[in-house]
Amino acid sequence: MQEMVNIVIVGGGAGGMEIATKLGRKLGKKGKARVTLIDCAESHVWKPLLHEVATGALDIGIDALSYRGHAANHGYHFQQGAMTNIDRDNKQVILAPIMDDSGEELLPARRISYDYLVIAIGSIANDFKIPGVREHCVFLDSTEQAMQIRSMLLNKFMRYASHHQLDEKIKISVVGAGATGVEMSAEMHHAVDQLSGFGYKIDSSLLEITLVEADERILPKVEKREISDSVAKELTAIGVNVLTSTRISEVTPEGLHTTEGQQIPADMVIWSTGVKAPDFLNEIGELESNHINQVMVKKNMQTTRDPHIFAIGDCAACPQEDGSWVPPRGQSARQMALMTADNISLMLEDKSPSHEYVYKDLGSLVNLSKFHTVGNLMSFMGGGVLVEGKIARFVYTSLYRRHLIELHGVFKGTLLMFAKGISRIIHPHLKLH
Ligand SMILES: Cc1cc2nc3c(=O)[nH]c(=O)nc-3n(C[C@H](O)[C@H](O)[C@H](O)COP(=O)(O)OP(=O)(O)OC[C@H]3O[C@@H](n4cnc5c(N)ncnc54)[C@H](O)[C@@H]3O)c2cc1C
Repeated sequence: MQEMVNIVIVGGGAGGMEIATKLGRKLGKKGKARVTLIDCAESHVWKPLLHEVATGALDIGIDALSYRGHAANHGYHFQQGAMTNIDRDNKQVILAPIMDDSGEELLPARRISYDYLVIAIGSIANDFKIPGVREHCVFLDSTEQAMQIRSMLLNKFMRYASHHQLDEKIKISVVGAGATGVEMSAEMHHAVDQLSGFGYKIDSSLLEITLVEADERILPKVEKREISDSVAKELTAIGVNVLTSTRISEVTPEGLHTTEGQQIPADMVIWSTGVKAPDFLNEIGELESNHINQVMVKKNMQTTRDPHIFAIGDCAACPQEDGSWVPPRGQSARQMALMTADNISLMLEDKSPSHEYVYKDLGSLVNLSKFHTVGNLMSFMGGGVLVEGKIARFVYTSLYRRHLIELHGVFKGTLLMFAKGISRIIHPHLKLH
């Protein structure tokens, strides 16, 4: 009897979850291949919502999706574990052992065999090797880190609400004014407003948020300057101190030091500058990688050195016609995932993986919590259309709606959206425990 083909996907994020679901339904359920998803976490939280997890606006008890449960219903298997290496000669992925909270080994290091491998392990914030960043900053790269920020913020607010001197403020710096830093700054203001409604003696005038950006404008990757200007104006109006053309040279327990010799005192620093793929990708399986550790791929998402290994999403360096790389975005990760699923299906039929990826920029929207939403739609059509307010907010949430529909199908995905909407009405607007 012929052995079943093994398709292994490492990383169940925006891209990995969609490819596992598509291949599970198409091949796994029909017994045409064994599809396995590996992730170091137990459950999936859609990364663009992490800033809401970090402020308590989103309760992962309600919004997280168990990999194991989803796998059972969608024709794929799930293995928990962190990939540490790839043995290309034996076509195996190597996973680190899993430890319990007391440091005892729950599962030993394991090897998982593959015929086709998809690397989809995303990215982390780039510290640019600036002294003190790793030691004194918090990051928003994973659900655990978002939860850590949430508990640090709540503890600070609680302590402050009971002991504060009137002339003191809670000083939080956010470094990096891309979408993550901008949205996080607004979301923190909103969280403090909400907390006052829960009996905390605190309001957003006691919060001093400084948003620091090295570029001469915030949202430097957003093409339209009007969007940056509109967002900067709104942030300033809600009380965020926006500093552009400011480079950080060092972070200490007291706060930030700039290259111009300025000091910015901070009780907490959230670091959200740029992205890079995890460092170990540079060293595994002798795959070709670029200066930010992304694995180099061809336009069909096959890695340049191994046709049986694909890379998608933030950890992939996919070339564009103009010589630039496809930007690390939720929308590019899902577009790559769906196309790569088709290419792997073609290879299983002994056909060439001929679909080539062209990034279709559907637009960039920035959501400043309850305060404002603004952005550019259909950027691929001659510059796109500028949108604001409720329409922009509706489109902003549509990327997540599409993700839910991809994972659950139209009927269940739509029901889930209603359920999440109802849950937001009946539960407190902030998760406080
Ligand atoms: C706060 C925030 C807001 C954002 N907003 C937007 C937005 O509005 N629009 C947009 O287009 N993009 C947005 N992004 C960017 C978007 O989230 C990413 O581009 C997208 O999630 C990338 O998808 P991915 O599948 O490559 O990686 P991810 O979604 O990051 O998934 C990676 C997965 O790999 C797993 N993993 C990591 N390392 C290992 C390992 N060694 N072994 C096993 N598993 C591993 C992780 O647990 C994770 O599940 C935002 C990002 C952030 C942080």
